[in-house]
Amino acid sequence: MSVEQYYAPTSIKEAEKILAEDENAQPLAGGTAIVERIKNIKTLVDLSRLGLNYIKKDGKNLKIGSMTTLEEIAKSKLMTGSVQALKQAAEQTDCRQLRNVITIGGDVIAAYYWCMVPVALLALDAKMVTSKGRSYQMEDVVSKNAKSILEKGEIVTEFLISDYDGKGAFLKFARTYDEYPFTCAAVCLKMDGNKCKKASLAIGAVETKPKRLRSVEKMLEGNVVKNVLNKIPDAVSKEIVPRNDFRASEEYRKYVTGIIARRAIERALGVNE
Ligand SMILES: Cc1cc2nc3c(=O)[nH]c(=O)nc-3n(C[C@H](O)[C@H](O)[C@H](O)COP(=O)(O)OP(=O)(O)OC[C@H]3O[C@@H](n4cnc5c(N)ncnc54)[C@H](O)[C@@H]3O)c2cc1C
Repeated sequence: MSVEQYYAPTSIKEAEKILAEDENAQPLAGGTAIVERIKNIKTLVDLSRLGLNYIKKDGKNLKIGSMTTLEEIAKSKLMTGSVQALKQAAEQTDCRQLRNVITIGGDVIAAYYWCMVPVALLALDAKMVTSKGRSYQMEDVVSKNAKSILEKGEIVTEFLISDYDGKGAFLKFARTYDEYPFTCAAVCLKMDGNKCKKASLAIGAVETKPKRLRSVEKMLEGNVVKNVLNKIPDAVSKEIVPRNDFRASEEYRKYVTGIIARRAIERALGVNE
């Protein structure tokens, strides 16, 4: 089997209708994950003409259309405050040629263990909004199979980030500059002078799914960050159960993730830069 039908709808309603009526139809975003399964796909519904490519401020919220590419996110001047975590995740994704096609929506729905955008969105407490007007907290999206929470015909339309006037950073560690990460960390901090008022720390590529490290967040909150920085690596290592594969052993991931998390915190605060 190979692709027999290609649709390029110009409205969300039209896209939903094609996807709902044809059980073999798949939404097509950047195509970088789809291409691996192309032999098993009969119908493709190209989402590129639906007007879902945008980054805009709406009051205190930042809205990012699901078809926005990672290069557009990496280059946008609107990615300020803690949204730096998302900008830096986009910047560190592979090479520019791929960043020019990979979309934020595709990265979240593909949900491979190495996908970095969901890690940053998780730390940002973002919401994923769909064509049915539903919105899901990123914590729910990443804890389930992202695709399985969508109904037949439902597409992801945008990501909503609120309350992002803090500090944020993202760091990955990989065998080479453009290789898939074997660990990464995203951090968002609200500071009151040297003291951390609110912390959000997520790791990815370590376990099967990204996750928030709540005990480390508690360790930061209410404290002068530089007083707890040295305790971060150990605390992180205790809260994770890493995978073991050809990219890195369980022990190495445990060790490096602690260091990457501490460095992400330092990066968010501009320490050692
Ligand atoms: C060599 C290589 C290296 C990579 N390195 C990294 C990396 O280091 N870090 C990283 O994060 N990513 C990386 N990626 C990208 C990642 O592996 C996926 O290929 C990518 O995230 C998929 O995004 P896409 O826009 O191309 O989606 P597509 O391939 O078009 O779609 C992916 C899935 O999502 C569905 N989908 C897409 N958009 C929507 C929508 N709006 N609503 C509903 N369903 C939708 C599709 O139907 C499909 O099932 C890499 C990719 C390649 C090829």
